[in-house]
Amino acid sequence: MAAVDDAPRAPDVPAPPRARARGAAGVPQVAFVDATRCIGCTLCIAACPVDAIIGAPKRLHGVLAEFCSGCELCVPPCPVDCIVMRPAARDWSADDVTAARARYDARLLRRARPTPRTKAIGEPAQRRAQAIAAALDRARARRAAIR
Ligand code: SF4
Ligand code: SF4
Repeated sequence: MAAVDDAPRAPDVPAPPRARARGAAGVPQVAFVDATRCIGCTLCIAACPVDAIIGAPKRLHGVLAEFCSGCELCVPPCPVDCIVMRPAARDWSADDVTAARARYDARLLRRARPTPRTKAIGEPAQRRAQAIAAALDRARARRAAIR
């Protein structure tokens, strides 16, 4: 099946704006992490819209090639330039598009959900209020101790 942005078009018809913005339509690509240079910073995981990168802090990260759309969004955030794009071994199909959308939606839902950490520390204003209240409590305790 043809690649999504690679639909047949006459030679004199320019690529649509979105395709131009993401580079010329061409061979489907997949991201690849150079294991010898990855420092495990996780910035690529944060950038990938379809959760195609796996890894943990300070651990080598890897790309799940079957999920990678070749969008290149993970490349600029990498502080050590260890992500390169390579030709994918297959075309990007309509099924891949559907699966990528589902993974993107699942990611949005997951990120919107409160985590134990955000629940614990609350929103910034609440966090500030908690810090101020704690400081006041400590000051009161110190005053009470020297009376
Ligand atoms: S190229 Fe896009 S889809 Fe592939 S790993 Fe990087 S951010 Fe994810
Ligand atoms: S951004 Fe680069 S260095 Fe950081 S985890 Fe990803 S591949 Fe490794």
